[in-house]
Order: sequence, then structure tokens, then C-alpha cells
Amino acid sequence: MDYRRFFEDAIDQLHAEKRYRVFANLERIVGKFPRALWRTADETREITVWCSNDYLGMGQHPKVIAAMHDASSRMGSGAGGTRNISGNNHPLVELEAELADLHAKEAGLVFTSGFVSNEASISTIAKLLPNCLILSDELNHASMIEGVSRSGAEKKIFRHNDIVHLEELLKAAGKERAKLIVFESVYSMDGDIAPIAAIADLAEKYNAMTYIDEVHAVGMYGNRGGGITDREGLSHRIDIIEGTLAKAFGTLGGYITGTKSVIDAVRSYAPGFIFTTALPPVIAAAATESIRHLKVSQEERRMHQCQAQLTKDVLAQANLPVMPSETHIVPIHVGDPELCKKASDRLLQKHGLYIQPINYPTVPRGTERLRITPTPFHSNELVVELKDALVEVWTALGIPFSKDSTPAIESNDRVVTLAVSKAGG
Ligand SMILES: *Cc1c(COP(=O)(O)O)cnc(C)c1O
Repeated sequence: MDYRRFFEDAIDQLHAEKRYRVFANLERIVGKFPRALWRTADETREITVWCSNDYLGMGQHPKVIAAMHDASSRMGSGAGGTRNISGNNHPLVELEAELADLHAKEAGLVFTSGFVSNEASISTIAKLLPNCLILSDELNHASMIEGVSRSGAEKKIFRHNDIVHLEELLKAAGKERAKLIVFESVYSMDGDIAPIAAIADLAEKYNAMTYIDEVHAVGMYGNRGGGITDREGLSHRIDIIEGTLAKAFGTLGGYITGTKSVIDAVRSYAPGFIFTTALPPVIAAAATESIRHLKVSQEERRMHQCQAQLTKDVLAQANLPVMPSETHIVPIHVGDPELCKKASDRLLQKHGLYIQPINYPTVPRGTERLRITPTPFHSNELVVELKDALVEVWTALGIPFSKDSTPAIESNDRVVTLAVSKAGG
């Protein structure tokens, strides 16, 4: 076998499908978020990032950075080993207590990433339950799908957010059989929200366990940043709430919260928890600070929603094909992988705006898109600049606008006035 050739062919396949991925070489700048330095072979330029999942800019919050400095000066860099071998670092104990409190659960358990937390927890819980049937939303994240398949349990996929379909599957399985429903609160590519209360009702009716991924909601929704379950007063109706520390909390790591017994079982049985080095104390301390801040401060959440709504309104007004979204996520439909990549390249090269193209397999083929994530730090002026750039790119590349008409040519003064009046509300 010609090994080199084999891997080259695998990459050529991606090129042929126009979905070979290139990552920009960026350097974020504290105090200037969402600005970043972009390095190419020829030059270094300052650009604006529109696709960060540091949704609230907490990655540069002075309190978070100070907590990190403090922990590193007192405890150094790494954790020193797996928790199994080297024990718990105190900041991790504090972090888990903070997370349990955030979701009003008995206990929490931290992993090295949200991906690992899903993979390890779903697989372990479903493996421990005898003859478990997993009911999984068809649009679940790759990390949940890994957990489902790793468990070896039988699975049934229910149509996205379709509780009628979910009930059919639950009914067919019967009340006696062990069942685990796995789903997300906010689906990050479309920005829609699961019918959590209805799923909890069904789980109760058919005696199923529930596992929710709140990765794209923690920090951002609910009075204390506990996610959609917090906002809707449903935390107590979901068995396991999973989240990340890497998106709105601006650091790194993932976690689950739930009853003492289920958390202890995952801690004791999950290889993805046991056999890997713990999160460094610096990261744990920074995450705790971030969570504590967002438990009481509403300002970041308010501004986040404000700028997200404004972005949707301004882009829609310019007839850009903004896809419907109930949340802070603003997807713009392109529908072709090559155009999507070209649009992204032109935005960066010509306009200094970075929006990574979203292609298959992250989204279904034919629904390729630009996924825009406004933050509290994307000012009204930046929103207008984005709109102008997108209109230029859409026109230059011949990407369809949402209506057949040419984009409404509006004076930017009017848009800014609209922006300011909305943002002020
Ligand atoms: C990003 C993401 C994860 C993984 O979280 P990380 O902390 O980045 O590993 C899990 N679930 C969903 C829905 C995600 O979008």
C-alpha cells in the first residue's frame, strides 16, 4: 500500500467536493475584541471576527484574566495528572460546585471539553442502563452522536424537534424499557430551540431519562446564565444538563450536572473522564470567575440579544437571505459549498471580515451558509459595515438575495438610526 497516496487521495476528495477546510491564522487582541490580527504569507492585517463562539467576549473579561493570572502565579500551569492518579485540584472542586448550583443540581463533573463530556457521559450512562434505548434528535452534535454509537446501545433517531415522532418511538419501546432521550436546547447551526417542556412531559409519561446539551445557551440565557432550562424554569425536569466552558464562558472544558448518583457513576466508569489529565487549575479558576460574573450580571446577555437582533434586522432589510433563527445565531443561506467558501474568502480579503464558511457535514448539503455570531462588542457601526460587505460579496459572486429584487439601497445613516433606536430599547 502507498500510504502517502492514500492520504493525498482522501484530501483530494474534499477538494473535489469543494469542502476542503482552511483555517485563518488569527491572533485575538485583548481590549479590542472582536478585532484580531490575521497573518498570511505576505502580511499581517487587523480584521473583525464575526464567527466567534466567545459569544459574550468573556475570554477577554478583566475578571477572568485576573483569575487566571492569580491561579497561575499560585499553582503553575498544568494539573499534574489525571484525577484518578493525582487527586483533585481545589479550583476544580470549586468549579464543579459552581456548576451544580448554576443548574440547580446535586452535583457536577468537569471534562477537558464539551465534546468529551458528551461522548463520555452519553456512552457511559447508556452502557450502564440495561438494554437501554437511546432516542436521539436527528440534528444532534457530532459529540453526542459519538456518545450514542460508543455506548453500543440500540438507538432511534427522531425527526428534529418532532415530539409526535418522539412519542411514537417512546410508545413503541414501552414504559418498562430503559430509555435515554438526548437532545440540545439551542441548535447552533439554525439557531432554533427544542420544545424542552414537551420532551420532559413525554419523558415523564413514558419513564425515560433526559439528557440535554445546553452548550449554545449556558451563560447566555436565563437570569443566572443557566441556559434555556434556566430561562424556562425547567432545570429540575431534565435529568442531565450538559454544557461547555469554552463558548459563552470564554475558557475551556465541558461538564455535566445531575443527581449525585448519576454523576458519581460517570466519574467512576467513563474512560474519557478517568484516563485523561484534568483541566489545569488556571482554566478552572477562570471558568469559575466567568460563571460567577454571569450569574449576576445581565448586561452581557442584554447587549448580546440586542446586537443579534439588530444584525438580523439590518441584514434582512438589505434582502440578504437571513435564515429564521430564534436565538443569537444569524445564519445566512448560500446553498453551495464553493460559493460559500468564495464568499468567506472575499469577505476576509476585500473587507477584512472573518466568517468561516459552514459546509457539509456540519450542515446538510444544499444548506451551506455563513454563520454569523454577533456579540455585545459588535457595535452598530460594525453591523452596518458587515451589511455593506455582504451586499458587495453577494452581488459580485451572484449569490441569490432573499427576494428577486435588487437589494434595497439604503443610506447608511438611516440604518444606523434604526440600529441606535433598537439598541437603545
Ligand atoms: C461546540 C459544541 C460541543 C463541544 O463543546 P467543546 O467544549 O467545544 O468541546 C458540544 N455540543 C455542541 C452542540 C457544540 O456546538
